Formats: sequence, structure tokens, C-alpha cells
Amino acid sequence: MTKYIFVTGGVTSSLGKGIIAASLAKLLQARGYKVTIQKFDPYINIDPGTLNPYEHGECYVTEDGAETDLDLGHYERFLNVPTSQANNVTTGRIYQHVIQQEREGAYLGKTVQVIPHITDEIKRRMQLLGESNEYDIIITELGGTVGDIESLPFVEAVRQLRWELGANNSLVIHLTLVPYLAAAGELKTKPTQHSVKTLLEYGVQPDILVCRTEHKLSQEIRKKLAQFCNVNINAVVESIDASTIYDVPLLMLKENLDKTALTKLKLSNKNEPDLENWKNFLGKLKNPTSEVCIALVGKYVELPDAYKSITEGFIHAGATNECKVKVSYIAAESVTKENVAEKLKGMDGVLVAPGFGERGLDGKLNAIKYVRENNTPFFGICLGMQCSVIEFGRNVLGLKDANSFEMDANTSNPVINLMEEQKNITDMGGTMRLGAYDCEIKKGTKAFAIYGKTKISERHRHRYEFNNDYLKQYEAAGMIASGFNPETGLVEIVELKNHPFFVAGQFHPELKSTVANPHPLFVSFVAAALANKKSK
Ligand code: GLN
Repeated sequence: MTKYIFVTGGVTSSLGKGIIAASLAKLLQARGYKVTIQKFDPYINIDPGTLNPYEHGECYVTEDGAETDLDLGHYERFLNVPTSQANNVTTGRIYQHVIQQEREGAYLGKTVQVIPHITDEIKRRMQLLGESNEYDIIITELGGTVGDIESLPFVEAVRQLRWELGANNSLVIHLTLVPYLAAAGELKTKPTQHSVKTLLEYGVQPDILVCRTEHKLSQEIRKKLAQFCNVNINAVVESIDASTIYDVPLLMLKENLDKTALTKLKLSNKNEPDLENWKNFLGKLKNPTSEVCIALVGKYVELPDAYKSITEGFIHAGATNECKVKVSYIAAESVTKENVAEKLKGMDGVLVAPGFGERGLDGKLNAIKYVRENNTPFFGICLGMQCSVIEFGRNVLGLKDANSFEMDANTSNPVINLMEEQKNITDMGGTMRLGAYDCEIKKGTKAFAIYGKTKISERHRHRYEFNNDYLKQYEAAGMIASGFNPETGLVEIVELKNHPFFVAGQFHPELKSTVANPHPLFVSFVAAALANKKSK
């Protein structure tokens, strides 16, 4: 029987529920359990695909093309197991389904209400991944903070589900903040007591408290938390600030979070977790023998969470190269023809980021012209790839108004065009080219040297594509298409022949980089940046 762990958050948002959930899952997986994690978000958007990255950070895309919360990226990076549409559910999706059922007459004349209809649908979704019996344990993270009006139906669903599942089949972990008051020189337990009281008002008694803190929890503080929140003292877990999120599984292991959870679920904790590979990765991450500086040129740089998977991809690739990767986030709008050399000359490699809309386009083109002419390693992702095509069109092929149809629908040279299947689409949500598509790589190219094979699959999220009418012209001038979609002929990778490293993909490789499998494009790009640094 599948067992369920629910993770709630108290006191404030941004405590890192996703990291705690992923760390616990990692430990359980390392003990031999089959685990997955799902996230329930209380906002009304059907999915985060329509959200500006400034709202909740990056939109993470799964193999099956779901646009999801960035926490799913952490789950995949930690567990190295793909997630899917079923792993992220929002209030919007719940209501959409219930309302559709109502229109179809499925409720047989009943008044449709939050309880039981909305909570029933939440419970159904919470157990969907359990139906296949594929997992021993399903961890469900509830977005938001306990006490928020919008998360109430989710907490109520957890209460009901725990009762339905019966004793020892579920547990609730409450992630909370134990703030340090510098003036008093003390850690404070009161906010946690209050947030647990709020949970209790809704009928949910947490089994384990994970306490985010800047200072070690003394035995006295642990006892106080245990006593006032009705939990065993072993179930008070310290989660102290870590230098990297990848330390958290080991910190949780030290605090016995996995053991305590397994005991409560009446599951065996005999197998010690096998964390050999994880520790190897951490060893390399923490003991770099060199350092490179990479510029990330993008339009959402004020919020690094907007580029979460890219940042993590660099961490994985850095560890593989035993090299510290220092990423400088450069606002695309600030890069001008005049200052580009100044801004990029100290950089060992430059990445131009994904994005939407015209803002910052010129800055990206300036950056690409600079790296192309100065042999600086370049890596373009999605819009970054499209920009490299526009830049090459304008400055090498002399197509002065070369542009993407997205930026200028009237250009006489739409080198990046709207995809055929996108032409009649009017809805914005979930309608891009999304998820995994095959790509065939040409032998003898840099892409082939990087991947070491001809058949790959990568994840997508875009509406525009390389315009194949221009392909001959580009290839004759030295920008070649080294990867294609075998069914449609869409260009998936472009690269420059006469450049040490100039590779750009229409897909998002960052979404598939994990601790166990750092992405080859990131690994090779970091290696190229390192070689560039050494040659200077
Ligand atoms: N805006 C571009 C498109 O829709 C690129 C998207 C992206 O970078 N994810 O094709």
C-alpha cells in the first residue's frame, strides 16, 4: 500500500518546502523506497505557464509537456526521476474539473460546494499517482502558508484523507520558522506554536516539525517546541541554513528525519541510505580546483529564481569539471554596442537565456555579436538560440531587418517564424510546443561530440522556430543546423563552424540536468569556458 507524507508550511513563505520534500525523498530513495513528490498550489491559474517569472520564478516543464512550479525541478534534480502533469495541481485545475463536471450534470442536481466536491477532487488528485502502485511513498507538498484563506480546502482535504487512509499510513511534516532575535539573543518558538495551533484548528496535528533556523536548536528549545506542539522530541528537526541546497539531504539524515518518518509510517529503516554518489558530487562541488566566470544575459535577472534550472545546471556541470562556476546575471537591456566589451571581457563564457517579448533583444544581440567575433564560448537556450540566428542574419548575411516574427511581424526577413501549428492558436495557456521531442544530431558536429550519439530527446517551450527557407544561406556562411526534429524537420540545434564553442538549442537542456546526470551541454560549455580562461 502506498503511504502518504504531507508537507505544510507555517509562519512565512519561502522556507524551502520543496527542498525539504526533495531531501526527504532523496533519503527514502537512497534506502531503496520508490518515492515521488507532488505539489499542490493554491492559486487559481490553471498552471504557472501564464505567470510572469517575476511572480513565482521559472516555469518548469516536464517530459509530458506540463508547465509546472519550479519545485518540480528540485524534485527531478534530487531524485533523477521524471515528474509529469499529475505532479502539479492548482486550485484552478481543481475548480475547472469540478465546474466541467457540474456542466455535464455529473452531480445529479446537488448543490456543488467546497466541501465535499472541491475537497473530494483534491483528495482524488492527491491519490492519482498512488493508483499505479508504482510508489511506496508519495510526498505531497502544499504550496502557501497554513492560515491562508486559499489553502484551507487543501488542509481540509489532508485532514479527511488522513482519516480515510487510517493509522500509520500517512504523516504530516510542518515546516516552520524559528526566528532569532538578535536584540534578545534568542531563538523564538512562539510563531511556530501559533502556526501549529492554526493547523490544529483545522483538525490536523503535525507529526514532525522541521524548523528552519539560522542557529542551532538547543535541547531546551527542542523540548519547548515538542511540548507546546504535541510532538515527540525526536520529531523536532533542525533545518539550519546550508551553504548549498545539496547539503540538505545530509543535514536531514543527521537529524534522522527519514528514520522518524519511516518509524511513524511503520516502514522498515533497516537499509542504511546509499548516498555514495551524492557525497561524491558534494565533494567535487565543495573542492573545486579552478573557477570560471559565466555571464547569463537575460531580462529577468533581478530575480535569479527566474533562471533556477540554468543556475542548477551550472552547479552540476561545475562539479563534473571540478570547477566553481561564478554566474553573473546581466540585464540584457543594459548591454549596448558601446559597453558590451566592457561588460563581457572578463567573462570566460556567455549564456543568452530563454525569454519572451522584445525587451532586452538588442542587448542580447550585442552580446552575441561580441562573443561570436571574440571567440568567447557561447551557449544559447531557446530565445537565446533564436537571437543567435537573428544576429547572424543581420551581421553576417547582411539581412538588415532579420528578426523573429515574435518581435516584428512585418519584417521582410523572418528568420525565426511562427510555427505552422501555432498559427491558429488564440489561447495562451498550455498551447506552446511543450515537453519532450526527439532530435537527431548530425555526425561530425560539435553537438555530436558533446552528446556522443545521434538520437536525443529534449524538452521544449516555445512558439517560434528557425525558418528553414534560410537554412542553405546560413549553412553556406558557417552557421549550421546540427540537430533536427526527425518528424518535422524543425531545427533544434545551431552551431558555428569556425568558433571554439558556439552552440545553441531551441530546447531547454537545463530542465534535464540532475545531480546524477549533469547535462552534457552544460558540462561541455563549462569545459570550453575553462579552456578559454586558460588560453587567455
Ligand atoms: N519567445 C520564444 C518562443 O516562443 C522563445 C521561448 C523561450 O525562450 N522559452 O519561441
